[in-house]
Amino acid sequence: MKEKKILIIGGGIAGLAAGCYAQMNGYKTIIFEMHNLPGGLCTAWERKGYTFDGCIHYLFGTGEGQPFNQMWKELGALQHCSIINHHEYQRITDGDHSLIIYTNPSRLEEHLVEISPEDRDLIHQFCEGVNQFTQFDMEVMYQKPRSLLTGTEWAEFGRKMAPYLIPMARWGQLSAGEFAAHFKHPFLKRAIAHMFSWDEAPVMMGMCLLAYMHTGNAGFPAGGSLEFARAVEKRFLELGGEIYYNAQVEKILVEDDVAIGVRLYTDEIHLGDWVISACDGRGTIFDLLEGRYLNKQIQRMYDGHLPMHSMMQVSLGVNRDLAAEPHWVTHLLDEPVLIAGEPHHEIGVKHYCFDPALAPPGKSVVELIIRTNYAYWQRIYGRRPYDEEQRQVSGIIRDYLEEWYPGLHQQVEVVDEATPLSYERYTGNWMGSTCGWLLTKETMPMLIKGIPKTLPKLKNFFMAGQWVEPGGSVPLAAASGKNAIQTICSLDQKEFVVLLS
Ligand SMILES: Cc1cc2nc3c(=O)[nH]c(=O)nc-3n(C[C@H](O)[C@H](O)[C@H](O)COP(=O)(O)OP(=O)(O)OC[C@H]3O[C@@H](n4cnc5c(N)ncnc54)[C@H](O)[C@@H]3O)c2cc1C
Repeated sequence: MKEKKILIIGGGIAGLAAGCYAQMNGYKTIIFEMHNLPGGLCTAWERKGYTFDGCIHYLFGTGEGQPFNQMWKELGALQHCSIINHHEYQRITDGDHSLIIYTNPSRLEEHLVEISPEDRDLIHQFCEGVNQFTQFDMEVMYQKPRSLLTGTEWAEFGRKMAPYLIPMARWGQLSAGEFAAHFKHPFLKRAIAHMFSWDEAPVMMGMCLLAYMHTGNAGFPAGGSLEFARAVEKRFLELGGEIYYNAQVEKILVEDDVAIGVRLYTDEIHLGDWVISACDGRGTIFDLLEGRYLNKQIQRMYDGHLPMHSMMQVSLGVNRDLAAEPHWVTHLLDEPVLIAGEPHHEIGVKHYCFDPALAPPGKSVVELIIRTNYAYWQRIYGRRPYDEEQRQVSGIIRDYLEEWYPGLHQQVEVVDEATPLSYERYTGNWMGSTCGWLLTKETMPMLIKGIPKTLPKLKNFFMAGQWVEPGGSVPLAAASGKNAIQTICSLDQKEFVVLLS
């Protein structure tokens, strides 16, 4: 029988994973990637001997035998590196108090109660919840597309999910900001809201994170995000896949409502049996397919009302060893500071000394992530104020760093700024979104119910990646690539197989 061909748009983690599973299942696979590197958002960049990591803070699936670990083994992603686990997720301080977010729920409970005995009950409920989620097998939602589950598999799915239905309803519908408001202690009222990076984050998301960090299943792969992506790229190439870099797809070719190929900006045409788009969702639907395959639900999803995460990253290479300092500290400010036109009440500072590969000996990488408004940067993009504004932001940041780490100002050797426009330019993601739809209580039901991976009436076409898995993340992007191939195998009446690397 003729070998079937799958064309994949995007060499991010979703596209690479789809490519690996397609090769394992006997398809001829080509990935088209517009950048000259694999990984998409899962990336890092070098400046004067420093490696600035642009993605992974924690990766689900790093724990032997735990959810998502087997998938990473199939993708050859972790065999090359050691895993760095943190026992402290981060610290939050207002200068007078300090909250240490231990990943061990008992230790965290003790510490929180020490800060505020009067919040004991609330603290206990939260830490109990974290404890319970240590047993939660999140991968059960992604092991196989739901449309392919057999009766027995549905029963197994139900059995695994049942104990979590009440906790999910309770903690999935409560944002960190709302949860914080229940605390009596004024410092915890402020600090808890920032515990999971954005105050709209569902508390359940943070609980799962702490739970997986505690069980050693949310570590940092030494070497960082680009090395991680390169390992999956290597696996894809070893499985016989082909990847074209600097190859931006301009259109998905369709004949009689069947996707038959892609045309690149160079006008090169490639024909295939299946097309998987593993890149920006909006660009896929409205540009590559010219908005021809829509329904009301899709139009509503992309009308701009759903939350997204646009951010700025300021990275510094510093001639100082910060290894003895806590690796991640969020400083609550007495007075808000205006950054890129918006008031900010806190600034989070992270150093990467836990991974010596990322900076020359005795030196440190320091990174700050600042949530910012895409439109603000877009209005000035390509003109002088854009560069000036970036410098202004890093100037503000450096002044704060000098206050918190006296002497550091003089030790800065490299400064690098990335805005939402940088993310958009390098990865094509709408508004530079770092995770597709931001996970909030509004988008949580989309995650639980699942978003369709096909478009109405369009055959032989699938979407994979962060725009079809709300909240994104590296493991969910990879799992969605795997799910696309599982569905294609089923439609081609082939048994889906996996190979360990
Ligand atoms: C700062 C930051 C921190 C993060 N932290 C974490 C974390 O700690 N843990 C975690 O799990 N996740 C984290 N994430 C999220 C995670 O990186 C993403 O959700 C995930 O990598 C998305 O993968 P993807 O393959 O779906 O999309 P992408 O990475 O966006 O890949 C899409 C690819 O398609 C290419 N492309 C786009 N258009 C075209 C076209 N027309 N033709 C050809 N190629 C095209 C792009 O260049 C890109 O390579 C973080 C992200 C950021 C930015």
